[in-house]
Amino acid sequence: EAAISIRNLVKRYAGAKGAPGKLALDGVSFDVPRGQIFGLLGPNGAGKSTLINTLAGLVMKTSGEVAIWGFDIDQDTRNAKRAIGIVPQEVVFDPFFTPAEVLEIQAGYYGITKAARRTAELLAAVHLSDKANAYARTLSGGMKRRLLIAKAMVHTPPILVLDEPTAGVDVELRRQLWELVEELNAEGVTVVLTTHYLEEAEQLCDRIAIINHGRLIANKPTRELLSMA
Ligand code: ADP
Ligand code: ADP
Repeated sequence: EAAISIRNLVKRYAGAKGAPGKLALDGVSFDVPRGQIFGLLGPNGAGKSTLINTLAGLVMKTSGEVAIWGFDIDQDTRNAKRAIGIVPQEVVFDPFFTPAEVLEIQAGYYGITKAARRTAELLAAVHLSDKANAYARTLSGGMKRRLLIAKAMVHTPPILVLDEPTAGVDVELRRQLWELVEELNAEGVTVVLTTHYLEEAEQLCDRIAIINHGRLIANKPTRELLSMA
């Protein structure tokens, strides 16, 4: 079974005064295989964030079917949501919370008992153990991005989804984030990421789907896709 299965997904945003608005997803179908790093590549405005936000339950699809780890997002919303961890693009942390507190609060939100929390383990996984008790306002941009990844993993989802994980970061930090994604994947996490950098998709992804104007125009193992270019 696929990690994520998407069939005929359509999203039309509402326009002004109830007029039909932008058709952001125009009948998209694909599967994300379990265990892979899957890249959703496309230019700005292609529909990548709309797709991710649909998976996250932040955008209501117009039509189509989505199953996450076998759970239909309409029928089995709670389980579907629990199977996924979302790393959004923007980093917003209360400046006076520490990484440990951010993760504890998130665990509380999921109803995870104190005994079952994995705060130290998660901080170690994203190489932030030495910053566990530092105020978020003192963290570098890269540290904040890593904390965001740990936060998305608090409920131990089998799937991690990253929206433009390296947008606007320097080369050094990009490499760090790529390594971290590979480490998590090596531990068994299925990864889906959006990007508009071909190089990022090539370096990191086992499989690449290309989206443009709300339509899927390719979906192939990275090797095959590159041999066509
Ligand atoms: P819907 O109710 O169709 O799901 P949202 O609630 O996601 O739409 O967005 C509400 C409104 O926000 C939209 O109708 C639109 O006017 C505006 N909006 C937000 N982001 C964008 C964007 N990237 N491009 C155009 N309009 C946007
Ligand atoms: P990408 O993430 O690939 O840049 P998006 O999913 O953000 O693409 O946007 C796809 C299209 O939908 C764009 O034309 C964008 O302006 C439009 N759009 C995105 N969000 C909204 C919204 N909330 N309301 C109306 N239009 C939107």
